[in-house]
Amino acid sequence: MFTASRLPLRCWAEIDLAALERNLRLIRASLPGHMRYVAVVKADAYGHGLHQTAARLMHAGADLFAVANLAEAAALREIGPGWPVLLLSPLLPEEDRHVLDYDVAVTVSSAGEVERLDNAARSAGRTVTVHLKIDTGMGRLGVWHEQAPALYQQIRQASHLKLAGVFTHFSSSDEDSAFTAEQRRRFVAALNACQGIDLTGLLIHADNSSGLETVEVAGPFNAVRVGLLQFGILPHASSLLSQVQAEPVFSFRTRVALVKQLPAGSGISYGRTHVLRRDSTVAVLAAGYGDGVPRASSNRGQVLIHGQRCPILGRVTMDQTIVDVTDVPGVTTGDEVVLVGRQQGAQIGLTEFSRWADTIPWETLCSVTKRVPRLYRTSLGL
Ligand SMILES: *Cc1c(COP(=O)(O)O)cnc(C)c1O
Repeated sequence: MFTASRLPLRCWAEIDLAALERNLRLIRASLPGHMRYVAVVKADAYGHGLHQTAARLMHAGADLFAVANLAEAAALREIGPGWPVLLLSPLLPEEDRHVLDYDVAVTVSSAGEVERLDNAARSAGRTVTVHLKIDTGMGRLGVWHEQAPALYQQIRQASHLKLAGVFTHFSSSDEDSAFTAEQRRRFVAALNACQGIDLTGLLIHADNSSGLETVEVAGPFNAVRVGLLQFGILPHASSLLSQVQAEPVFSFRTRVALVKQLPAGSGISYGRTHVLRRDSTVAVLAAGYGDGVPRASSNRGQVLIHGQRCPILGRVTMDQTIVDVTDVPGVTTGDEVVLVGRQQGAQIGLTEFSRWADTIPWETLCSVTKRVPRLYRTSLGL
């Protein structure tokens, strides 16, 4: 048997599970005591690895988990059989009957979904749990808020459905607090218009990481859905959120594979989009867009070597990235390179790394490829 598992690392991500646990506890402590914590772990827990991450979040006291699809729900079931799981995405019709296998709560936005699920539950002789989603201005999932009371009545009359929650999602909580407040108003008005609704025992939730800024103590809300912030990334610069001293959980590293001298005037990489202005020392790194270094960060991004920032020269390629180390003495083959994270007191944040590629931290985390092993750091060290 050949195995690659004992080969040295060329490009890897480190996941600090102890930091993840501390983040959850800090976020919790900053929220009103009655707020339940829904840990959002879709997309392989934002690229951090669902198994390890969810197990640690269970240990740290998450109340409920939210995922995007049934495969993710099934994976969660293997880790912690008893935990409540909310499916955030709509089901495809062929998926309806599988909901019963995994005992997940389903998000419903339409009369068609309510009817389908009620039928699937009836033919299995079971009950399906649902959360009613209300569209208060996101224009994606949810029943339009003015039609929410009618859908609520339909759920109430569906004999094999059990309503466990009502929620909405903010479109601009990181940039438009006035519109977020309007979304809250629409949600509360829709809820009040649901005749006969008994909020006791229902999970009422709206806030994602950015929304936590304006989370309401008063009002009907009793849960938050936290994704990015638990991984230690502030969704935007904000005084209130930065009071939660969340630490980054993810770092991204590679190594110097080759060091060489090139004369002034040499072009660098495909298309020769960078031409050296001076005699230079360049380092060729063992990572490229095949690992998740965005090609869009060509000629823009930086990395840390020996704690110093080194600019990316020319285009990022599939397996290699070239950086300028002329001003960093002593760089040699095998040296560790930080793409995202800390080194000798210097730091490149995920948000800065994402900006070089004109994207957002959420997408960056989903773009680290499966070629990249994830190493898990616990409180006991790696
Ligand atoms: C992904 C997602 C979240 C989590 O958002 P963050 O900004 O990462 O905290 C919350 N709610 C819904 C419906 C989502 O799809």
